[in-house]
Amino acid sequence: MAFTRRILYSPVKPLRPLLLDEAPEEWNLFGPDYRRQQVAEWLFRKRAGSIGEMSNLPTGVRQHLEAAYDFTALRPARVTGSADTTRKLLWELRSGDYVESVLIPASPDLFGERSDRFTLCLSTQVGCAYGCKFCASGLEGWKRNLTPGEIVAQILETERVTGKKINNLVFMGMGEPLANYENLMKALTIINASWGVGIGARHITISTSGLAPQIRELSEQPLQIRLALSLHGATDEVRQQIMPVNRKYPLTVLLEACADYQAKKRKMMTLEYILIEGVNDSAEQAAILAKHARRLHAKVNLIPYNTVEGLEWRRPSDFSIDRFAGVLTGARVTATVRREKGHDIDAACGQLRLKQLKVDRDELPEVSRIKG
Ligand code: SAH
Ligand code: SF4
Repeated sequence: MAFTRRILYSPVKPLRPLLLDEAPEEWNLFGPDYRRQQVAEWLFRKRAGSIGEMSNLPTGVRQHLEAAYDFTALRPARVTGSADTTRKLLWELRSGDYVESVLIPASPDLFGERSDRFTLCLSTQVGCAYGCKFCASGLEGWKRNLTPGEIVAQILETERVTGKKINNLVFMGMGEPLANYENLMKALTIINASWGVGIGARHITISTSGLAPQIRELSEQPLQIRLALSLHGATDEVRQQIMPVNRKYPLTVLLEACADYQAKKRKMMTLEYILIEGVNDSAEQAAILAKHARRLHAKVNLIPYNTVEGLEWRRPSDFSIDRFAGVLTGARVTATVRREKGHDIDAACGQLRLKQLKVDRDELPEVSRIKG
């Protein structure tokens, strides 16, 4: 009988914590208190590429940190787009999983001058458990939560790779941010802190498919973060056709939680609404959506559907899109149509990773991977 070698145990070692997973006061570090400040400076100001570079730390301290922590959270596996356009970054994590970020420059102003404002769209999970029928992230199911450091590292690495300073964040990449609540909050502390990345809460938007209990929890904490709700259907009937989460938190429960959030935070929230042909693009849905928006003092962001390979959904005609937007503005609701900037480089949620997974499976030769 032929001898076949079977691998019973995966040789993958458990992940150690990252320095970026913890706030300075939590670091396993000995010596005087200013050491923590020095390490934070190396991480966030001088942007050290390793613990070894932290030259004002005694060798013993560096060795201790190297034994206790991993330093590099992710490496760029693929970068698409050019310096002046939307850039899509596919990251390979220590676990071998992929997540993505998208860097979006602000449009040039009226005088054609280049703006220095950059928004980064971040991922919070590998895959997603919520299985919205139109979304590439949900197609492969949920794999794991990102750690706080893996969330923060997307910002630092994007700045390193592109040389751009990021001043705005949207949690609209892969995953459901509020399903990774604890790690997200920890990442936000590090992102918001003056010793950390230093991006103000007003410049941070969390997008959720509608986890009502976590929306309530978010309204209890002090950071003035902006909230975007992925509504995509104005009635339960339409919404649950495409978003299974609606069965768990139907619209009455969800909109009540959002109304409370709005009342507590006094911030204008955004309702995101993907327009999918023949599913949710009727004038009737628009009229009901307008009512929800007025109740929540929300503006509406209309997103013509970005086609996903393997899925049947289509974006409506420009005529239907304009008709839908017209019903909203006619009801005195602020509505913008987002003509997807990253359309040509698979910038919608989860699409680049999906392609990479297919490549890894089929070993297609045409995708060049950057050696990091
Ligand atoms: N899980 C969160 C955040 C990530 S998705 C959420 O659902 O809100 C970010 C946004 O991209 C959501 O509004 C989502 O519905 C939208 N989206 C997903 N797939 C899309 C597609 N193919 N075209 C356009 N928008 C899409
Ligand atoms: Fe998950 Fe959001 Fe995609 Fe729905 S739209 S599957 S919640 S990432």
